[in-house]
Amino acid sequence: MSLQRTLSILKPDVTRRNLTGKVNAKIEESGLHIVAQKRLFLTKEQAQQFYAVHAERAFFNDLCDSMCAGPIVAQVLEGENAVSHYRDIMGATNPANAAEGTIRRDFAESIEANSVHGSDSLENAQIETAFFFSQLELVG
Ligand code: ADP
Ligand code: MG
Repeated sequence: MSLQRTLSILKPDVTRRNLTGKVNAKIEESGLHIVAQKRLFLTKEQAQQFYAVHAERAFFNDLCDSMCAGPIVAQVLEGENAVSHYRDIMGATNPANAAEGTIRRDFAESIEANSVHGSDSLENAQIETAFFFSQLELVG
Protein backbone atom coordinates (compact mmCIF):
# COMPACT_ATOMS: atom_id res chain seq x y z
CA MET A 1 0.00 0.00 0.00
CA SER A 2 1.19 3.51 -0.66
CA LEU A 3 -0.26 6.95 -0.10
CA GLN A 4 -0.76 8.58 -3.50
CA ARG A 5 -2.35 11.62 -5.11
CA THR A 6 -4.24 11.62 -8.39
CA LEU A 7 -5.87 14.25 -10.61
CA SER A 8 -9.65 14.19 -10.93
CA ILE A 9 -11.83 16.30 -13.22
CA LEU A 10 -15.59 16.65 -12.94
CA LYS A 11 -16.52 17.28 -16.57
CA PRO A 12 -18.98 19.89 -17.92
CA ASP A 13 -21.83 17.34 -18.01
CA VAL A 14 -21.54 17.13 -14.21
CA THR A 15 -21.47 20.88 -13.52
CA ARG A 16 -24.34 21.48 -15.99
CA ARG A 17 -26.57 18.97 -14.20
CA ASN A 18 -25.59 20.30 -10.73
CA LEU A 19 -24.11 16.94 -9.75
CA THR A 20 -20.73 17.99 -8.31
CA GLY A 21 -21.87 17.26 -4.73
CA LYS A 22 -23.26 13.85 -5.62
CA VAL A 23 -20.13 12.80 -7.50
CA ASN A 24 -17.84 14.08 -4.76
CA ALA A 25 -19.93 12.33 -2.09
CA LYS A 26 -19.18 9.05 -3.88
CA ILE A 27 -15.48 9.95 -4.04
CA GLU A 28 -15.31 10.87 -0.36
CA GLU A 29 -17.39 7.88 0.76
CA SER A 30 -14.81 5.67 -0.96
CA GLY A 31 -12.18 7.03 1.44
CA LEU A 32 -10.36 9.44 -0.88
CA HIS A 33 -9.66 12.97 0.41
CA ILE A 34 -9.95 16.10 -1.75
CA VAL A 35 -6.72 18.01 -1.04
CA ALA A 36 -7.04 20.71 -3.74
CA GLN A 37 -9.98 21.91 -5.82
CA LYS A 38 -10.92 24.63 -8.31
CA ARG A 39 -13.77 25.38 -10.72
CA LEU A 40 -12.70 26.83 -14.06
CA PHE A 41 -13.37 27.06 -17.79
CA LEU A 42 -10.85 25.38 -20.11
CA THR A 43 -10.04 27.14 -23.36
CA LYS A 44 -10.00 24.97 -26.47
CA GLU A 45 -6.20 25.27 -26.53
CA GLN A 46 -5.95 24.11 -22.90
CA ALA A 47 -8.26 21.15 -23.57
CA GLN A 48 -6.15 20.19 -26.60
CA GLN A 49 -3.00 20.41 -24.49
CA PHE A 50 -4.48 18.38 -21.63
CA TYR A 51 -5.68 15.61 -23.99
CA ALA A 52 -2.70 15.84 -26.39
CA VAL A 53 -2.10 12.08 -26.06
CA HIS A 54 -5.41 11.58 -27.93
CA ALA A 55 -4.66 14.11 -30.71
CA GLU A 56 -4.76 11.47 -33.46
CA ARG A 57 -8.06 9.92 -32.34
CA ALA A 58 -11.24 10.53 -34.35
CA PHE A 59 -13.04 11.81 -31.25
CA PHE A 60 -10.33 14.34 -30.30
CA ASN A 61 -12.02 17.49 -31.60
CA ASP A 62 -15.42 16.60 -30.13
CA LEU A 63 -13.79 15.65 -26.83
CA CYS A 64 -12.00 19.01 -26.60
CA ASP A 65 -15.20 20.88 -27.48
CA SER A 66 -17.14 18.97 -24.83
CA MET A 67 -14.51 19.81 -22.19
CA CYS A 68 -15.06 23.52 -22.99
CA ALA A 69 -18.86 23.36 -23.03
CA GLY A 70 -19.10 24.52 -19.41
CA PRO A 71 -17.07 24.82 -16.24
CA ILE A 72 -15.09 21.86 -14.94
CA VAL A 73 -13.96 21.09 -11.40
CA ALA A 74 -10.30 20.08 -11.21
CA GLN A 75 -9.27 18.41 -7.98
CA VAL A 76 -6.50 16.39 -6.40
CA LEU A 77 -7.47 13.25 -4.50
CA GLU A 78 -5.30 11.61 -1.86
CA GLY A 79 -5.47 8.12 -0.40
CA GLU A 80 -3.98 4.65 -0.40
CA ASN A 81 -3.26 3.65 -4.00
CA ALA A 82 -5.29 6.70 -5.06
CA VAL A 83 -4.53 6.32 -8.79
CA SER A 84 -6.01 2.83 -9.19
CA HIS A 85 -8.57 3.28 -6.40
CA TYR A 86 -10.07 6.30 -8.18
CA ARG A 87 -9.99 4.55 -11.58
CA ASP A 88 -11.91 1.68 -9.97
CA ILE A 89 -14.69 3.89 -8.60
CA MET A 90 -14.87 5.89 -11.88
CA GLY A 91 -15.78 2.79 -13.88
CA ALA A 92 -15.11 1.97 -17.53
CA THR A 93 -14.72 4.76 -20.11
CA ASN A 94 -17.93 3.66 -21.82
CA PRO A 95 -20.69 3.87 -19.19
CA ALA A 96 -22.45 0.97 -20.92
CA ASN A 97 -19.55 -1.21 -19.71
CA ALA A 98 -19.12 0.42 -16.29
CA ALA A 99 -19.67 -1.76 -13.24
CA GLU A 100 -22.61 -1.32 -10.90
CA GLY A 101 -22.09 1.45 -8.35
CA THR A 102 -19.35 3.27 -10.25
CA ILE A 103 -19.53 7.01 -10.96
CA ARG A 104 -19.81 6.55 -14.72
CA ARG A 105 -22.47 3.86 -14.39
CA ASP A 106 -24.55 6.13 -12.15
CA PHE A 107 -23.96 9.52 -13.77
CA ALA A 108 -22.36 9.42 -17.25
CA GLU A 109 -24.45 10.56 -20.21
CA SER A 110 -22.36 8.88 -22.96
CA ILE A 111 -18.87 7.56 -23.76
CA GLU A 112 -17.79 11.15 -24.44
CA ALA A 113 -19.74 12.98 -21.70
CA ASN A 114 -18.68 10.42 -19.14
CA SER A 115 -18.65 12.73 -16.12
CA VAL A 116 -15.13 12.26 -14.79
CA HIS A 117 -11.46 12.15 -15.69
CA GLY A 118 -8.84 10.31 -13.65
CA SER A 119 -5.10 9.98 -14.16
CA ASP A 120 -4.06 6.57 -15.48
CA SER A 121 -0.63 6.35 -13.79
CA LEU A 122 1.30 7.95 -10.94
CA GLU A 123 3.55 9.69 -13.43
CA ASN A 124 0.60 11.17 -15.32
CA ALA A 125 -1.05 12.12 -12.01
CA GLN A 126 1.95 14.33 -11.27
CA ILE A 127 2.01 15.85 -14.77
CA GLU A 128 -1.76 16.49 -14.77
CA THR A 129 -1.73 17.92 -11.23
CA ALA A 130 0.96 20.41 -12.27
CA PHE A 131 -1.25 21.39 -15.25
CA PHE A 132 -3.88 22.79 -12.86
CA PHE A 133 -2.22 23.44 -9.49
CA SER A 134 0.87 25.11 -8.12
CA GLN A 135 2.68 23.58 -5.14
CA LEU A 136 1.17 26.30 -2.92
CA GLU A 137 -2.37 25.20 -3.78
CA LEU A 138 -1.89 21.61 -2.60
CA VAL A 139 -3.11 21.18 0.96
CA GLY A 140 -1.28 18.92 3.40
P1 ADP B 1 -10.47 7.45 -19.69
O1 ADP B 1 -11.10 8.82 -19.44
O2 ADP B 1 -11.34 6.33 -19.14
O3 ADP B 1 -9.05 7.37 -19.22
P2 ADP B 1 -9.43 7.62 -22.42
O4 ADP B 1 -8.20 8.21 -21.81
O5 ADP B 1 -9.28 6.47 -23.33
O6 ADP B 1 -10.49 7.20 -21.27
O7 ADP B 1 -10.20 8.75 -23.23
C1 ADP B 1 -10.27 10.08 -22.75
C2 ADP B 1 -11.68 10.58 -22.90
O8 ADP B 1 -12.00 10.64 -24.30
C3 ADP B 1 -12.77 9.70 -22.31
O9 ADP B 1 -12.97 9.88 -20.92
C4 ADP B 1 -13.97 10.10 -23.12
O10 ADP B 1 -14.52 11.35 -22.64
C5 ADP B 1 -13.37 10.35 -24.50
N1 ADP B 1 -13.47 9.15 -25.34
C6 ADP B 1 -12.74 8.01 -25.24
N2 ADP B 1 -13.10 7.12 -26.19
C7 ADP B 1 -14.09 7.70 -26.91
C8 ADP B 1 -14.88 7.30 -28.04
N3 ADP B 1 -14.72 6.10 -28.61
N4 ADP B 1 -15.79 8.19 -28.52
C9 ADP B 1 -15.96 9.42 -27.95
N5 ADP B 1 -15.24 9.86 -26.89
C10 ADP B 1 -14.32 9.02 -26.37
MG1 MG C 1 -7.38 8.43 -19.90
